Amino acid sequence: MEVRSHDIIVLGSGLAGLRAAVEVARHSDFDVAIVSKVQLMRSHSVCAEGGTGAVMHPEEGDSFELHAWDTVKGSDFLADQDVVWRFVQAMPREILLLEHWGIPWSRRPDGRIHQRPFGGHSFPRGCYAADKTGFFEMHALYDTLQKYATVARYDECFVTSIIIEGGEFRGLTVWNLTNGEFFLLRGKALIIATGGACRMYGFTTYSLTATGDGLAMAYRAGLPLKDMEFVQFHPTGLVPSGILITEGARGEGGYLVNNKGERFMSQYAPSMMEIAPRDIVSRSMITEIEAGRGFAGVDGLDYIHLDLRHLGAERIYERLPMIRELAMKFNFIDPVFEPIPTRPAAHYFMGGIHTDIDGATPIPGIWAAGEAACVSLHGANRLGLNSTAECLVWGGIAGGEVVKFLAKQRSLPPPPSEGRFKEEEARIFGRFPEKGEADIYEVRRQLQRTMDKQVAVFRTGPELEAALDTIRELKASVPRLGVADRGRVYNTNLLAALEVENLLDLAEVIISGGLARSESRGAHARRDYPHRDDANWLKHTLAHHTSEGPRLEYIPVRITLWQPVERKY
Ligand SMILES: Cc1cc2nc3c(=O)[nH]c(=O)nc-3n(C[C@H](O)[C@H](O)[C@H](O)COP(=O)(O)OP(=O)(O)OC[C@H]3O[C@@H](n4cnc5c(N)ncnc54)[C@H](O)[C@@H]3O)c2cc1C
Repeated sequence: MEVRSHDIIVLGSGLAGLRAAVEVARHSDFDVAIVSKVQLMRSHSVCAEGGTGAVMHPEEGDSFELHAWDTVKGSDFLADQDVVWRFVQAMPREILLLEHWGIPWSRRPDGRIHQRPFGGHSFPRGCYAADKTGFFEMHALYDTLQKYATVARYDECFVTSIIIEGGEFRGLTVWNLTNGEFFLLRGKALIIATGGACRMYGFTTYSLTATGDGLAMAYRAGLPLKDMEFVQFHPTGLVPSGILITEGARGEGGYLVNNKGERFMSQYAPSMMEIAPRDIVSRSMITEIEAGRGFAGVDGLDYIHLDLRHLGAERIYERLPMIRELAMKFNFIDPVFEPIPTRPAAHYFMGGIHTDIDGATPIPGIWAAGEAACVSLHGANRLGLNSTAECLVWGGIAGGEVVKFLAKQRSLPPPPSEGRFKEEEARIFGRFPEKGEADIYEVRRQLQRTMDKQVAVFRTGPELEAALDTIRELKASVPRLGVADRGRVYNTNLLAALEVENLLDLAEVIISGGLARSESRGAHARRDYPHRDDANWLKHTLAHHTSEGPRLEYIPVRITLWQPVERKY
């Protein structure tokens, strides 16, 4: 058994992982390994476009109370309010830390950091670097990490399992895609920062790599997943590719227009219009499309126009250059002269690995941060700007907590048995037949079609039941998946099989949680239960792995500041 050891393992090199690694490196001499299935700077976070939320100008009327209220109301009251309060207070410092680490924030003429409006925020709160915010945030963190000799990198290394024995973290099994090596990575502590799983949908804004591996591995290892039924649909996915057109485009003043030329949001959210929260805008767009007021697209992808023309060329060039480039390259449309075709696309997982307010999971030695975690900041519906922000805050918190933990945990926990390691090696490289009866890519297509059709913006009980049957059939076909490539080096065929297996496990959790939750709250909109039901459902779902499927239990929401009220915009 090949073994590597470090003090701390950060699994994932997106914003949350890098922020955690920086925190450890600047406060200790512990040696940190960052593991990523892609090259570090290819992590999904580089795609973040519109901005990061923080109260930066209280003298102009913004406040922690307002940011917290917007977040709690946006969450449809499912956010834990102590978590929200900690978050809003921590954010301005994160913006300034990035500033010190070199990020080129877009600025006002007087040199201060500029902020743009965003959905569900009652104040312009989005700090941004044009429309490439994630890229510049990643770069600032990456550059900062170069200062520390204590950080090792395992790029293009795919983690296949998280080993927990005796109730504690024992290591990761890792497949090095570049040379085929399979090894055990031991550490005293682990931070899981593996991002979301939106690639279970066909029409999605997400990178191809967002396959939820960390969530699925944690779930199978015994960590509960929380609130997984809440999947966010971003109103403006570019049709037909699904590429994101940032909410910043509407924050800058863009209009959503139906085929009658109407700005229909006046019917649904008269005070916030196009920058109402995403769940509301997405439902409004689908309602317009279903009523025949959309534009006809191919493959059922009917759409709504996002019109930026009135913003003028100069503003589009300065504030939304990448959006213009994307529309031009993928749709041959210049938004300076033509509206952009958009419709709601799967975009974000509000749910994730259950953690406490410090990012700690129930297993000693394991933390989770970023989109893979559910610290309960976003509840049933995340506001734009709050995800990159969460990655920064809880990446930092988890890093700091691990440093404290290691002051007590001085030695490595014992390794797992050689037998356990060999079993995992056989599961990865010896399980799939060369000529299987099931086709990986067809299984993935069926999964995506099912999720797109039956587990989308609006849901019903019968649709969810049908979707669950399909997912269980697809799961049963996994051992029969044919993997024609028998090599170990850059075997993308085998990788696709492992990723689809992870996505199927998570789809089962999402649908089971959604079927059980007989109410509509935030992004979970049930046509057969159209109202929020606080008496029965003001609670978090926890899903535990069993061989028969997820076992659900519920824990209370922490309400410290505001009682739930009707949500109007
Ligand atoms: C197009 C787009 C634009 C967005 N824009 C914004 C925005 O403007 N503002 C905002 O607040 N939010 C935005 N979001 C959301 C935000 O970008 C993400 O939620 C956030 O970047 C997630 O970061 P993360 O660090 O949690 O995970 P990621 O950046 O997804 O990183 C996951 C890491 O885990 C690694 N990994 C995963 N599985 C494995 C495995 N099996 N083995 C080894 N490594 C693994 C990956 O290689 C990667 O390094 C946007 C989302 C999208 C899709």
